[in-house]
Amino acid sequence: MDVKQEHGEFVWHNGEIIPWKDATIHIMCHVVNYGSSVFEGIRCYDTGRVSAIFRLDAHIDRLINSSRIYRMGLKYSSEEIQDACKQMVLANKFKECYLRPLVFRGYGTFGVDPLPVPLEAYVCAWEWGKYLGPEAIEKGVDVCVSSWTRNAPNTLPSMAKAGANYMNSQLIKMEAKLNGYHEGIALDPQGYISEGSGENVFLIKDGIVMTPPLYSTILPGITRDSVIKICERLSIPVVERAIPREMLYIADEVFFTGTAAEISSIRSVDKVKVGAGSRGPITREIQDQFYGIISGKAEDTYGWLTPVEAAAGAARREI
Ligand code: PMP
Repeated sequence: MDVKQEHGEFVWHNGEIIPWKDATIHIMCHVVNYGSSVFEGIRCYDTGRVSAIFRLDAHIDRLINSSRIYRMGLKYSSEEIQDACKQMVLANKFKECYLRPLVFRGYGTFGVDPLPVPLEAYVCAWEWGKYLGPEAIEKGVDVCVSSWTRNAPNTLPSMAKAGANYMNSQLIKMEAKLNGYHEGIALDPQGYISEGSGENVFLIKDGIVMTPPLYSTILPGITRDSVIKICERLSIPVVERAIPREMLYIADEVFFTGTAAEISSIRSVDKVKVGAGSRGPITREIQDQFYGIISGKAEDTYGWLTPVEAAAGAARREI
């Protein structure tokens, strides 16, 4: 599946805007050897009148939390990184794009100890199509339960969106794709449903929407949070609880949420059809609310969209 991706012309680096081709690092950077990075993935949408970034403050809060967990003393405020994201939309003249704030341990000492190594902060931007393909939203994707387990608590913390966690995600994704599936769903160390390689999972059974809790070693997804809030507004019962694997085979509806995947329905799990094998009515109701807001067709009554206007000033500070 070829998903469109076109990178921007400029990158934000430690408060300065530099050409994309100059955003390079030395092979002996700490991050290359030891995986020491935290990052975000954010979408900016064309709402018709203006480009707007979806839940920008929540994403940057999570970036700051990720950097705290890994004792990365990030010197930029939330406002400064939010401003950098806006600058990347404007400088690259994007109407819609994906934004990638990235903080990592750079070039310094060569041993494992991260504390002496200087930090680098970047924001990159590119145009990115629908991650699981354009048909995933309506028709749904075919997924498997992965033979790989998600990282156990007290190993790699799942509340941090850290680059190293994505080695586990890569195992899940490779196994799924090589076996002919779009994506894999991993279980947590107790055998309950955790999440996809880059998505949270929701199931619907008898009108109740359920999703794994934080203790099922999931990333606290911002799309997941948005779906929970949409359900509450629509008076659809929603519960966070440990979910046994077999619920995937008997659920009426199953879907993924994520910034890249948005809300993509799942039509089969391990070749067992989900419900009637096509998108179900509750998934559709939730999608209608979500896509209404991000397309600008419905009013953003949640305050989730940050418009990008030319006044965003340059934030510059050493880190
Ligand atoms: N889980 C994992 C492992 C992810 O990489 C992502 C994507 N960031 C998600 C869940 C969904 O999170 P969000 O809705 O904030 O993009």
